[in-house]
Amino acid sequence: MSSKKNNKVERIIKRNNVGKNIRSFISGMLVLVVGGVTFLFMALSAFYTGIINSDRDMKKIVAITNENWENQAALDKQIASLMAENASFTQVLYVDDDLEPILMYGERKPVFSDEEAFGKNPAEVLRENGMFREEVVTSFGLIEDTIFAEIKGLFESINGYESKTLFDWSDTDVKMDVKWIVYKTDIENVNVCVYYKYTLNKLQAAQYNFGRFAFMLLVILCFILLFLFNLLMVRRRRLTNKIVYTDSVTGGKNREYFLDIPLKKLKRNAQYAVAQIRFEKYRNYCTAYGLKQGEKLLETIYYCTKEHLHWKEKVAHLEKADFAILLEYKDRQQLEKRLKNMAADFNKAKQGQHFTFSVGINPILSRKDDMADILTAAGIALSKAGKQNAGIVWFNDAMKEEQIWERRVEDDMEKALINHEFQVYLQPKYSTKKEELAAAEALVRWIHPEFDFISPGKFIPIFETNGFILKLDDYMLREISRLQAQWLKEGKKLVPISVNVSRAHFSMDDLAEHICSIVDEYKVPHEYIELELTESAFFDDKETLLSTVKKLKSYGFRISMDDFGAGYSSLNSLKELPLDIIKLDAEFFRSIDDVDRANAIVGDTIALAKKLGMEIVAEGIETRDQVDFLAGQDCDLIQGFYFAKPLPVAEFTKRAWG
Ligand code: C2E
Ligand code: MG
Ligand code: MG
Repeated sequence: MSSKKNNKVERIIKRNNVGKNIRSFISGMLVLVVGGVTFLFMALSAFYTGIINSDRDMKKIVAITNENWENQAALDKQIASLMAENASFTQVLYVDDDLEPILMYGERKPVFSDEEAFGKNPAEVLRENGMFREEVVTSFGLIEDTIFAEIKGLFESINGYESKTLFDWSDTDVKMDVKWIVYKTDIENVNVCVYYKYTLNKLQAAQYNFGRFAFMLLVILCFILLFLFNLLMVRRRRLTNKIVYTDSVTGGKNREYFLDIPLKKLKRNAQYAVAQIRFEKYRNYCTAYGLKQGEKLLETIYYCTKEHLHWKEKVAHLEKADFAILLEYKDRQQLEKRLKNMAADFNKAKQGQHFTFSVGINPILSRKDDMADILTAAGIALSKAGKQNAGIVWFNDAMKEEQIWERRVEDDMEKALINHEFQVYLQPKYSTKKEELAAAEALVRWIHPEFDFISPGKFIPIFETNGFILKLDDYMLREISRLQAQWLKEGKKLVPISVNVSRAHFSMDDLAEHICSIVDEYKVPHEYIELELTESAFFDDKETLLSTVKKLKSYGFRISMDDFGAGYSSLNSLKELPLDIIKLDAEFFRSIDDVDRANAIVGDTIALAKKLGMEIVAEGIETRDQVDFLAGQDCDLIQGFYFAKPLPVAEFTKRAWG
């Protein structure tokens, strides 16, 4: 990835630290909410302090009335003194239960016709509005457009009355300080009616107004902040998606984007397929022109593909030289033609170069399918296309079966090991000259509870890819060591038995020690254990293989190279590896086309191995002619169906020792 792209991604990541944003937003909101609640509390406490003071005055005047009603002079005096104390009311009158006036005290007279204060007779106003209900309301008041009534000692609001119809507040200092209240007294048909004001002192009023204002301000701020935060988060999400979905090599879309494509949003009456396309020999291209040019080429391929796509079709760069394309198609031929046209365009984009592409296609059968599964299937088809050099391969039922089988094997393997479903079979190796059983190879068989006998070809390659082969090989080595130890104890004349060591083992640094410790558990002399290595391990990591082989040899194990001549045999590996035995691959003896040529190669290989002091085993020998030919070539051992197939342990024992 170029450093320019790197920096860009880092910048975006820095800007999009969502966790940090959310944390600072939450703390900001907390400050505002705590502030808001504090100010609201301030305002309410100021207000209620005023109300409590006022209520105390009201109770006093009712008490004075109850005590002094019969003594008008005393009553007059007491009310005057209460009003002089700067009580919460400025006028007092007494009304009967019909709100008809009985008596009046106070500075302002006459109260009932005081149009200036009320615009109306308050008794009428009270009655009209149905406010005076002794059974419920003992006092009531107005705060802006809410009427407060004291009901059983509590302040509750009765909504729906318009303040303006009752009182005009315009001449008051503090808006909510005036109300008319009718209180019942203990005297029959006598009620106190006061022109009442909440006594908020200047500080309380200031505190109330400030608290209310600050609270409103903070509420507004909260809304603004919330709005801004949402706006920010939408932007952030977009940017985050951009990072998550951007491919760092091509600058286009990546695998995550492709996997998240909502299939349900595709056109309803159209067919779609996912194609996984691989630019073959990308590694060679990079070796020749450098990684930078390689990445540039991938970028060109990406944008070239994009130009071929229609609405709702998508492309993404997966990894290395693999791309995924979602395509709409009418029939297979038409789709293949489109893909070939795309490939032709890639070639045009880089004049003078010829690129080859393999494609695996998987048709989307249901919109409910998971894109990851669809893409995996396209990948399986692609791997077939790559292996067969076939260009375009469609995912089919056989591949599906294979996939299902693979899953089944993976589900059952651990259990199988515990239950000893893996059984050792032994295939004898016969000496060419005496035609006597001289050695054997341990070959695994899976006796499955459901499928019965499974041959290794059906599960070993799966174990090799998922790593389970390490456990299986250890198991086989342990079983062979156990058998050899048992036979040794029984006084039988042992023959060397070889076990296969998969190339996966060579990633272990201490492989030689590991093998040694297993064999030593059973105290089997090392010369009776042979280890068959596949030649391909030599190409993975030459150094490790070499040092492991040397160590194993120094511990006294016999080492053979299995399947020599199959695949990429290298005479070099013969020269470098201190091997004891070479196993000629069965393929040498199967070429019916040109037996002479094959025999010539076999003869020369045997001669070469002999010169290097190695033993030779020929595998897959099925006929007498082959045996005779090998005897003539001085081949040491023969392993093949001509002498014996792989045998269960009991049968092998019979054949070896009678
Ligand atoms: P291999 O190690 O090359 O084993 C020889 C294979 O050739 C065996 O196949 C054997 O049954 C077969 N064979 C021997 N003589 C003849 C013959 O005359 N004609 C024919 N047609 N076949 C013959 P098998 O047992 O199916 O094993 C296949 C491969 O699976 C083995 O090839 C080996 O690579 C692998 N394998 C088997 N058991 C194990 C194991 O325990 N661990 C590992 N890592 N691989 C194993
Ligand atoms: Mg073998
Ligand atoms: Mg072999």
